[in-house]
Amino acid sequence: MVKEQIGDVEVAAETWTAEQVLRWAFDKFGSRVAISSAFGAEGMAVIDIASRVHKEFRLFTLDTEFLFPETYNLMDRVEQRYGVTIERVFPLLTPEEQARVHGEALWKSNPDLCCNARKVEPLRRKLSQLDAWITSIRRDQTASRAGVRKIQWDEKFGLVKINPLADWTSKQVWRYIVAHDVPYNSLHDQNYPSIGCTHCTRAVRAGEDPRAGRWPGFAKTECGLHQKDDLVVL
Ligand code: SF4
Repeated sequence: MVKEQIGDVEVAAETWTAEQVLRWAFDKFGSRVAISSAFGAEGMAVIDIASRVHKEFRLFTLDTEFLFPETYNLMDRVEQRYGVTIERVFPLLTPEEQARVHGEALWKSNPDLCCNARKVEPLRRKLSQLDAWITSIRRDQTASRAGVRKIQWDEKFGLVKINPLADWTSKQVWRYIVAHDVPYNSLHDQNYPSIGCTHCTRAVRAGEDPRAGRWPGFAKTECGLHQKDDLVVL
């Protein structure tokens, strides 16, 4: 499928349920589509819904090598419960090599460069092998996500981007998780609504925005995976 063919589907899909969107994706792209997940609450809902509409789905994650033990534990549980092998995409540089090349604690001195090296470049490499990718972003998460469609052309990476939960609320996600006994990251029960790397994630305090715990102390709210332009061009 090319960019020009997306137009009609993009409009029609706005009335589809998450199940319908995922069914269309798997019918259309087969093994050329994969779910991208960091195993947050939304990602777990997408994985569970996908397992109900298509047994053989592909699932990949960007393993920055800075994830929480709780996240690695959840990845093991996902593989057991859904019978999938998570495709783990690693950065080109190990943490030690990154420290040698860019200096210690790059996430403090230049978090955009760190995210670019450990998330954006690996994602670009993975997406170059696919025709479509499935995300778990929701419109009300951040201002930059407010305009996403359920099915859209991804200008930045040059393939189809599928966002089955685009119109879901956080409450809907958690209702789904409880109703279907979906496994989730135990850090969510310790005031971590959004979970990324250990260096850049903290628990949120009462009344704070759910994403206030990501990159605390920086204006940064995204790692660059869902923005139109790269934060940093290497
Ligand atoms: S979230 Fe932090 S540690 Fe992880 S890649 Fe981005 S800057 Fe680096």
